[in-house]
Amino acid sequence: MTEPRMPLHGLPAEQVLTALEASKRNDVQWQQGRTFGLVFDGGPEVREVADQAARLFLHDNALNPAAFPSLAGLQADLCQWTSSMLNGPQAAGFVTSGGTESILMAVKAARERARIERGITQPEIVLAENAHAAFHKAAHLFGLTVRSTPVTADWTADPVAMATQVGPNTALVVASAPQYPQGVVDPVAEIAALAATVDANCHVDACMGGFVLPFAAKEGWPSPLWDFRVPGVTSISADIHKLGYAPKGVSVLLHANKELRRYQVFMFDDWLGGRYGTPNLQGTRSGLPMAAAWAVMSFLGEEGYRRLVRSTLETADQIREAVHAIEGIALLGNSTHHLLAITGDGLNVLSVGALLGDRGWHIDSQGPPDSLHLTVSAGNQAVVEEFLEDLRWATNQAPDSPEATPTDYASPE
Ligand SMILES: *Cc1c(COP(=O)(O)O)cnc(C)c1O
Repeated sequence: MTEPRMPLHGLPAEQVLTALEASKRNDVQWQQGRTFGLVFDGGPEVREVADQAARLFLHDNALNPAAFPSLAGLQADLCQWTSSMLNGPQAAGFVTSGGTESILMAVKAARERARIERGITQPEIVLAENAHAAFHKAAHLFGLTVRSTPVTADWTADPVAMATQVGPNTALVVASAPQYPQGVVDPVAEIAALAATVDANCHVDACMGGFVLPFAAKEGWPSPLWDFRVPGVTSISADIHKLGYAPKGVSVLLHANKELRRYQVFMFDDWLGGRYGTPNLQGTRSGLPMAAAWAVMSFLGEEGYRRLVRSTLETADQIREAVHAIEGIALLGNSTHHLLAITGDGLNVLSVGALLGDRGWHIDSQGPPDSLHLTVSAGNQAVVEEFLEDLRWATNQAPDSPEATPTDYASPE
């Protein structure tokens, strides 16, 4: 697989596929439930229906919905189903390629609204340090200034600190449900009210929580209101390729109504190629992710999601309970859903992560402060006892093992 050029003579398909399979040798073992992040496995039946749907739409192009009414219909269903799940009867949106693209487009829509409705030329985003890096990427790409504020002792966004940064140039105020690093839910109602004081957008980043919190509430886990029922919330992102259990490349960005959605779309006709309109960053885009997502949501249904959410949250609760009982490690914050962060209590927790890595577990490290980040999903339940045994072992060993250093979340080289 490390030849400097493509083959001169094409290879037999079987050989090509064998080489591809072999290339995966050292990848994380998500099929065995040994990753706490990156891949979220809804089980063999969910994978199968996604595989089949993906094959059906592998070659189709969602750039032109008129040419593919099938894809227009699938996209409309995904948006409508997600709107109804998030209690936004007037909500409207588009399917994007993932959480980052949903956030980029939410920021772009907020910037456009601020410019057109309020004449703002130096737009600002007010967020907390717990907000996802994608907001900073958006500010970098689209020329907004970020005003970042400290979090509370429970790692949630602090509306009091945010209030000091909201002003006439605020285009967007951000809340997360839950935030990624420690998995806690921000006080969405207070943050949305803050945005409303200057008529700015309020985006709720539910990339992680969108397909968990609605079902968690129905299954009896604590859940303050955070969705379109909260006055002042103008957009929400929810990733179907996370705990929606669809394969990668699909998220939904919803706006509270169609008027707000207009600001997402780019329309252009001053070139030689005619009228060109796109709601996303992509031009040509694959039909595969939305078809696979449509298949997975249809296959699981609300009952299926409730079942997966219940087992996921039971597993997360079991891990939290175990961490409380293990000397040398502790949880950061009081997350009650599927994300949790483990820190060292007198030891280097990154060494614990490295030791777990030696036993085939994949856990991201993060900071500050140094911590291990777990995204629990349904596939982890079958191996949670073994994981907790290894966690106890690794915590015991950590003081005597070499100091580990943080791994980059994603390095380009
Ligand atoms: C994963 C995540 C994102 C980014 O989504 P990608 O699909 O990785 O681009 C944004 N916000 C939160 C809270 C996330 O968990």
